Amino acid sequence: MVKVYVLDTSAFLNLNLALEGEVPLYTTNLVINELRNHLKKLSISIGIKRGILKVRDPPAKAISKVRNLAEDKGELKLSATDISVLALALHLREEELEPIILTDDYSVMNVASHLGVKFKAISKRGIRVAVDWLIYCPSCGRTFKTWIEKCPYCGSKVKRKPKKSKRIGT
Ligand SMILES: [Zn+2]
Repeated sequence: MVKVYVLDTSAFLNLNLALEGEVPLYTTNLVINELRNHLKKLSISIGIKRGILKVRDPPAKAISKVRNLAEDKGELKLSATDISVLALALHLREEELEPIILTDDYSVMNVASHLGVKFKAISKRGIRVAVDWLIYCPSCGRTFKTWIEKCPYCGSKVKRKPKKSKRIGT
């Protein structure tokens, strides 16, 4: 399997593209758009011209798979851009590639680990622990398998806390 890197926005902000000669780089149009007004734009366009960086968008099927899993796990901080990166990695795996997501985003890492997609933290800020959220009602104490806004029993705003954690990542 050919190893490829899939970069999210945080990865571009911390990575020097010139350092990554060997491994093909992938990202999505949503990421490129987020970086539009940033200084990194120049190195990105150079990367695209040289064919080092490939910009692809994941199919809708992969996007909904990631979105559903993120919701199930109570991982609510993912943006559409984050989801696109995770979905692209998922899709590239179906093409017999070995995607590794480069990210500094904790929620991206967490969902990647639940998807069984490898990732690498760009900086030391990266947390290497996967979290299963316990979704619970603070008023009546009931717990829920998937995320909901309000408790169906007492109407209180539902909260979440880490249930268990394990070391993940490379
Ligand atoms: Zn309740």
